[in-house]
Order: sequence, then structure tokens, then C-alpha cells
Amino acid sequence: MHKRLFTPGPTQVRPEILKELATPQVHHRSPEFSELYAAIQPKLQQLLYTENPVLLFTSSSTGAMESAVTNLVAKRCLNLVNGAFSKRWHEITAGNGVPCDAFDVPWDVAVKPEMVDEQLATGQYDAVTLVFNETSTGMLNPLEKIAEVVARYPDVLLLVDAVSGMAGTKIDTGGWKLDFVLAGVQKAFALPAGLAVAAVSERALERAGSVPPRSYYFNLTKMHKSHLKNQTPSTPSIPHMYALNAQLVDMLAEGIENRFARHAKMAAIVQSWAQKHFGIFPEEGYWSPTLTCVKNTTEIDVADLIKRLAGEYNLRIANGYGDIKGKTFRIAHMGDTQVDEIEGVLRAIETVLGL
Ligand SMILES: *Cc1c(COP(=O)(O)O)cnc(C)c1O
Repeated sequence: MHKRLFTPGPTQVRPEILKELATPQVHHRSPEFSELYAAIQPKLQQLLYTENPVLLFTSSSTGAMESAVTNLVAKRCLNLVNGAFSKRWHEITAGNGVPCDAFDVPWDVAVKPEMVDEQLATGQYDAVTLVFNETSTGMLNPLEKIAEVVARYPDVLLLVDAVSGMAGTKIDTGGWKLDFVLAGVQKAFALPAGLAVAAVSERALERAGSVPPRSYYFNLTKMHKSHLKNQTPSTPSIPHMYALNAQLVDMLAEGIENRFARHAKMAAIVQSWAQKHFGIFPEEGYWSPTLTCVKNTTEIDVADLIKRLAGEYNLRIANGYGDIKGKTFRIAHMGDTQVDEIEGVLRAIETVLGL
């Protein structure tokens, strides 16, 4: 029996979108392929409020994170860390031999613009990584305000992991001058994992051209060169591209502002429910619009709750991540999930726990 996913990735995929993955193959050097590539592009640009090219990576989000730091750091990278995925980005940066420092903030505290300003004022850095929506903690870091600070440092590129935020909340790539903003498609895009997207600014492409290449598969200069021909350097996951195109058509039909409003509405419902029965892990004012990380204040057995929801209701929520496993649990309200479905999950939890 299929268990409906209310996990913060992967998320539930609609059957009609799954069918798109079974579209008969085309050759990746054929005009049909370039048409598909070209059809996706303006829709992604619209979703991301940008005219920058949006490159496609046949990998999960981690590949695009690796691409950013291997291509876009000439001097030294500042990794802002306040959760598991931002910590991973630091490990990816260091693991590729790219000079970097982690700036650690407690996991329940948002990264503040002043903190970033203080670090950049040292003059050591020419790139900074930030996770917009920390999926491990349900934290939405104040990207717009941080971007304002970074913009005061003309040589510093702002690299953003928006994996669980993109397609669920507004990202004004153009207005906020984001140099690299990435996401995998198995979160708020509501597609199966295996493809990632990233909008890349002109100055980021210039930087990529000047940095000695550290990566072959994820080389941004090569990817951009192919992009200009509506192609990818190597054979991409074409089934994913059909599914992405169809999903973008549906997103634009719903209206992207409406889509964001639906996410905000679901978030408000889960947040008030969590406050009534438990608590919310991150500090107030920075709660994620796409998932809620519930603080287990009444010390329920989280693993047992998850097991019973799967066994009795065929639905899956997520335990806390890493160090906060058992101390928190996470309910995703993202992708194509509707308000009534989220209400159903909350009722199921209440029944299981006798709330
Ligand atoms: C899921 C996630 C990732 C990692 O994604 P993969 O697709 O598993 O590589 C990175 N960052 C954030 C914020 C995520 O939510």
C-alpha cells in the first residue's frame, strides 16, 4: 500500500506527473530535445523572478551545491551554518579543497544580516553560502535582508540553497540579486528526485570563467555553453525534463502567487496546531512556509508515532534530523499538498496520540 508522503523531501508526486516520466525517449542531440529544453526555460525564469539562465543538473541537489562552490570561489568561501544542510554545504566546500570557513549559529537561531556583515567585513571572502529554508530545522533564514548586506560587498557572490523553499515561497532572484540559487525537484516542485535546477547570474558566470576548473561534470562554463544551444553537456535525465515541464505548466495555471499563498495557508494551520499541542523548534519570526519542525515538548515517542501513522493511515511524516531526532518531528506542507490533506494529517496525529 502506498504511503502518502508528508515528508520534507521526497514529496508526494501526482499520478499524472508520474506518467510524464514514461514519455517515449527522444535523442538528446535532436531538435525535439532542444524544444523541450527551451520550453522549460521561461517557466523556470518566471517561477524564480529572473532573466538569468536556469541550468539543469542531472543529480540531486547536492550536485548543484557542489557545482556552486567548486566553480564560484576564487579566494575564500564563508559557509553560514545553522542546520544539517548548511553544515553539509561546508563539508562539500572543504571536501573539494576549496578554501572556506564555517560560521556556526545555533540550530534554532536564524542567520542575521548583522552576523553576515561582520564576517564579510574581514575582507577574507569572495563568496558566501546560505541555506534559505533549512529543512532539518524548519527555519526560513532572512534571505532578502542578508542579500542586501552581501550586495554592499561588490566582490562577494551570494550562493543560495533554496532546495525546500523554491516553488513553495517567493524567491525574487532578480530583485535580491542572487548569484546562484539552486533546488532539487523532489521538494516543493513535487517531482521524483534526480534533477536539480540553478539560476546563475552573469557575474557568477564571469567568476566561473576565471576560476581554474575544479569539476568536470558540474562545470558551469561548459553547462552554460550548452545551455545557449538548448542542450546539456552530457546526457540528462530526459524523463525528468518532461515531468518538470508538465509540472511547471500546472504551477503557472494555478498561478505562482496562489501556489505561494496555499503554502502560507497550510503553514499557518500547522504552526497554530503545533503551538497548541507542542512547540516549534526555530525561533519565532523565522518559521518555514513549507515544513514545520515540531518541538517534542511533551516527550511523545516520535518513532512510534511515525510507525503508527504509516501502518494505520498510510501516511508518512519525518522524524527530526540528526541531533534533534526524537526531540522534534517534521510535517511537510509543500508541493501539491492541499489544505484539506494537511488537516487530515493533523487529525490522524491527534487520534494516534489521543490529543
Ligand atoms: C533535501 C535538501 C538537500 C539535499 O538534497 P539531495 O537532493 O538529497 O541532494 C540540500 N539542502 C536542503 C535545504 C534540502 O532540503
